[in-house]
Amino acid sequence: MILIRVHGEYGEHDVSDSKKRATEWTGGCQCGAVRYRLLTPPEHASICHCRMCQRASGQPFMALARVRDDDLRWTRGCPSVFASSNIVERGFCSACGTPLTYRRVQSGNVSVTIGSLDDPEATCPMQQFGIESELSWTAGLSALPTMRTEDWMCENGITHIDSRQYSAQESRIDEGTA
Ligand SMILES: [Zn+2]
Ligand SMILES: [Zn+2]
Repeated sequence: MILIRVHGEYGEHDVSDSKKRATEWTGGCQCGAVRYRLLTPPEHASICHCRMCQRASGQPFMALARVRDDDLRWTRGCPSVFASSNIVERGFCSACGTPLTYRRVQSGNVSVTIGSLDDPEATCPMQQFGIESELSWTAGLSALPTMRTEDWMCENGITHIDSRQYSAQESRIDEGTA
């Protein structure tokens, strides 16, 4: 078993378990009040650079994985919803603020934020939307200097991080057949 300490995420992440979790398609917010399960793998994944997604996430773009409405089940709690326009509703956890869903009303589809999946590596974007608002520096990100979290911790004299985020590995209670 490989254990990696991850800044701001799970205290210890068992990499050997990631394939198993990938097939379960579960996710939720950082505090654990809202949890979901996808009944099928996402049919499409994309990123959106549009100004509204930037505002909704507080980030340069949103990464989203889409399923049919019926294939998303809330297994703990429910998201709060903000109608960000006449055509889109955005779900988020009212307790911790994590953005969770994007839903174009009457489309029959809903997308979950890829970062909220327990295994965000299980899907990858196939398309970019809202490209007119793409921030000028995103295309050059891979050229920036990089640092691993354990090296950052070492450099800052941090030996341990106690995560207060929900860990699906440690709490499997809500991961049943709801
Ligand atoms: Zn939460
Ligand atoms: Zn957008």
